[in-house]
Amino acid sequence: MKINFNAGPAALPREVLAAAAEAIMDYEGSGISILSLAHRSAAFEAILNEAKKLTLDLLGLDDSYEVIWFQGGGRLQFEMIPMNFLAEGETAAYIDSGHWAADAMSNVARYGKLHVAGSSAVINYRSVPRILDIPQDAKYLHLTSNNTIYGTQCFDFPNTEVPIIADFSSELFSRRLDYSKFSMIYAVAQKNLGPAGVTLVVAKKDFIKNTVRPLADILSYKVMAAKNSLVNTAPVFPIYVSLLNLRYLASKGLAQIELENEEKAQLLYAFIDNSSFYRGIADKDSRSKMNVCFTIARPELEAELLQFAESHNITGIAGHRSTGGFRASLYNAISIEEVQELVKVLAAFEAGLKA
Ligand SMILES: *Cc1c(COP(=O)(O)O)cnc(C)c1O
Repeated sequence: MKINFNAGPAALPREVLAAAAEAIMDYEGSGISILSLAHRSAAFEAILNEAKKLTLDLLGLDDSYEVIWFQGGGRLQFEMIPMNFLAEGETAAYIDSGHWAADAMSNVARYGKLHVAGSSAVINYRSVPRILDIPQDAKYLHLTSNNTIYGTQCFDFPNTEVPIIADFSSELFSRRLDYSKFSMIYAVAQKNLGPAGVTLVVAKKDFIKNTVRPLADILSYKVMAAKNSLVNTAPVFPIYVSLLNLRYLASKGLAQIELENEEKAQLLYAFIDNSSFYRGIADKDSRSKMNVCFTIARPELEAELLQFAESHNITGIAGHRSTGGFRASLYNAISIEEVQELVKVLAAFEAGLKA
């Protein structure tokens, strides 16, 4: 297989893929495929329960938090958040740290008032906004912990009484943090957890116990939590593959995962910093450990570099269509050896130009 640095849908550990392939043919010796497993069966309930336990264990949270699985991706969460928590006339604060943060903000006006607590748009999102203005009466503060497209990451989170809702899509389970400071975190699976088609929400029971307007069951955090994510037919397969990955992550432990992620990012950024051909995009103090964005000194060679990488077994390093350049996503499933291989190939391309 190629080494896949795509930002998402992204690489998954080999053992997860192998177990998923096996379950497609025969789910744990049951004689049926996981693709045909009933969503209201005891077997699927066991999958949901185990996934919930592993999620809370990995994040160091207790059962004052709910674990809920939604379809509709990040976009649906962007809409559901103000829909559930922001009444007409009330204010929600958002940190504008990049494309996804701005997309989340764009849904607020349909429900209440938007307050931009900080923005790095004027510097093209090269760093995360640090000077924040959070109104005390804001119903919640929304932030994006890792900005997948611009390659920046939050290392300090605001100290505020306002409940924090955080989009952890591109970095969930990548590092140790005090996750209890968040009232709700969510992550689309396809970045760093599992296949596309499902979004993991971890929310304080207390925070989601009320909705500010009448909602369809499928759009209510409260009802979806009460029904254990089973209002309608749940996406059994993406949840199961996410569970396989959760097992893999749990066997490693967050401390080890964090250590490896530090090492991988350090390796690639050090290479970029020592090269006069490759250039990092994000400000150093905001650099993401997950998505490393860079350009080259001779942009006319971009297509050639992509092709060179492909011919050396490396795929998925093109930057997002809105930014151009390059992006290597060093998610949990990427090994140190694979990053070493990337560095080798990037160095070989540069050396070939000088020859
Ligand atoms: C990819 C991404 C999303 C959007 O996910 P969709 O499932 O495509 O809607 C949202 N937030 C972040 C941080 C992302 O990286």
